[in-house]
Amino acid sequence: MDGILALGHFCESHGPCVILCTQKAENPPKNQAPHALTVPWCDSCQSIFLNQALVSKNEKGYYVTTRTPLQQDLAFLLKQAVVRSLSCEEETSGEGSPIYFGDHERGHVLARTFTLQDSLARGFYRKYTILMLMRDKVHLLNVWPVLVKHIKEIVRDLKKDAAKINDAEQEKRPQRAVRQAQGSPSTTGRSLSELTGRPAVFAHLHLWFAWLLSGSLAEERRKTPLSIPNVSPSPLLRSYLKNLGDETFKVGLYCVLTGINLITESSLLDAFKSLLPCEFLVSSNQYCSIIKSDEKYEVKWDEELPNKLPTLIMNIMKSLDNKHLPDSVLKTQLNCLIVQWRNIVNTLARPPSINLEFLQSLGIQKFDLPLLLFWITGLCNENKAIVLKEQLNKYLGCNK
Ligand SMILES: [Zn+2]
Repeated sequence: MDGILALGHFCESHGPCVILCTQKAENPPKNQAPHALTVPWCDSCQSIFLNQALVSKNEKGYYVTTRTPLQQDLAFLLKQAVVRSLSCEEETSGEGSPIYFGDHERGHVLARTFTLQDSLARGFYRKYTILMLMRDKVHLLNVWPVLVKHIKEIVRDLKKDAAKINDAEQEKRPQRAVRQAQGSPSTTGRSLSELTGRPAVFAHLHLWFAWLLSGSLAEERRKTPLSIPNVSPSPLLRSYLKNLGDETFKVGLYCVLTGINLITESSLLDAFKSLLPCEFLVSSNQYCSIIKSDEKYEVKWDEELPNKLPTLIMNIMKSLDNKHLPDSVLKTQLNCLIVQWRNIVNTLARPPSINLEFLQSLGIQKFDLPLLLFWITGLCNENKAIVLKEQLNKYLGCNK
């Protein structure tokens, strides 16, 4: 599934539903029999006819806009996404902020809900959403800034047109006064083209959506997977965990993965360092030592472990503790965990700026900050690292 862009709204008779969607196709659409999913139809839900399709073409393929996706499973996922974006998921920072939700099974969604003025609607406005549904979460988050910028422009145009129509209507016949006298009007449904005074509004949306999909924006990168770093977790980790004990082991692990100088025997240091995605230069002025005396390892460190350790460290501990995981599988498991966090850092470095929603969507929490700050230094170029560190500190606060 390539990305699919859709317009949904909250119909006063049918609830949340999809009214238009655009997807990329290799071939022009054929006369397909409509699928079993019921498509609501009323003045307000109206866009183009069920058997109609708006098609644009370029050298990469066809961009097809239909009332509902032709594939039944996609129609179902999109319907669910519209329901969630209009009824369950609420942006907390007011109208205008995009929201992200989704999972591996239902796809990943970026949605921007907005309202248009309508003197005949309940509350004098109608709620709409423009959303992008994609299978690849990382790709969706990578295109987030570009997508948000263009969706914002589409919304701004629609709002401006709807406000113009509404103002003209109010001047002619102020609806607030009529409503107060009469109660609710008998017919309330109006299509988007009536609300904006643009008969061709759905064709315009098709062109916007097709243009957005035609860039590299929505093409999922199936063919160029990220290179796998040469990580080789040491087979001695489990035996060190046993010899050092949980607490001392965690101190060593925390120091090495967050960039604190660790002074200890070289084979133990190498075992901890085998959990870094590449050789990082430690620039911290903190020192910690774990030295063996009388068959017991002793920690000397001026600091203490934070109450909550970074997610990666907790996951490494869980894997090492898991008795059902044989050593052969443990290595692969640890490898995956390290690659996952290396990719998170790479994803963080892509957009020009980040915000809290973006961090949350990547599963980053406050206690991951010490690890991220160190990994950014190792994985990003110097300028990017400075900007990212500043932004991470801003959103996640200093975690000492
Ligand atoms: Zn309807």
